Amino acid sequence: MGGSSPRLWTPLLAALLLPGSLAASLTPGERLAAGRLVRAYPSFLSRVQGDLLVWKDGTRMPLERARAASYSALLDWPGLLDKLDTVYPACQPLRVPARNEDPGRVRYEPLFQRMYGGSAQEVAAHLDTVNWFGQVLRVTRVNGAAASLRAVAAELARQPALLPYARPSAGAFVWRKIAGTSRLSLHALGAAIDLNTAYSDYWLWKGYREGQAGIRYRNRLPPTLVRVFERHGWIWGGRWYHHGTMHFEYRPELTGTCR
Ligand SMILES: [Zn+2]
Repeated sequence: MGGSSPRLWTPLLAALLLPGSLAASLTPGERLAAGRLVRAYPSFLSRVQGDLLVWKDGTRMPLERARAASYSALLDWPGLLDKLDTVYPACQPLRVPARNEDPGRVRYEPLFQRMYGGSAQEVAAHLDTVNWFGQVLRVTRVNGAAASLRAVAAELARQPALLPYARPSAGAFVWRKIAGTSRLSLHALGAAIDLNTAYSDYWLWKGYREGQAGIRYRNRLPPTLVRVFERHGWIWGGRWYHHGTMHFEYRPELTGTCR
């Protein structure tokens, strides 16, 4: 293995010698996705420069990929680009997901913890209350999540046939890891809600293992309800092979095409 191959040296020299924007290694698709991220979180993010995500406070995060050996390793330690890869089919017809098709389930925790808080106390400082059909839920006001959930509630209130699925909520903010993992749930950051579990289906309740083939999919939620959430920036756990149909989380970077 010689180290002098021009194919290796050219990008390396470019990265060392050229200013950031010229040394960019993102593909056009990656650049588009990074732009969507900046537009979805305008209070925090400033721009994409080269292969860096630049925050308004000057923080720079590398737009890179993890060298994950497996799907579960990718879930545990993704790079920021791995998170951006997702094409979430917002407002598209519902269908049964293929094996390990979990759009939006890979989350880059440093990004979200920096916005919503890195400890229970930091997250709690940003929590607002949302009246969810008489039930008080705690949701973060960061990035407009609480205001967005209020808009969802107002819209659902005009469609009484949807209410039995939506209420009572099984919870919003709770400082916890995702069941069976070391990953923080968006519930811990105050940016997720679970609906009425009486109509919910969750792969873990059925005794499956992560990544296992043949996880049987089931959903009882009407597409109209899913669409109301997606139009307001919330993605649905029912679009995942590892499905949890009670679960919605605020991810406006993935729902931008939905009107
Ligand atoms: Zn949930």
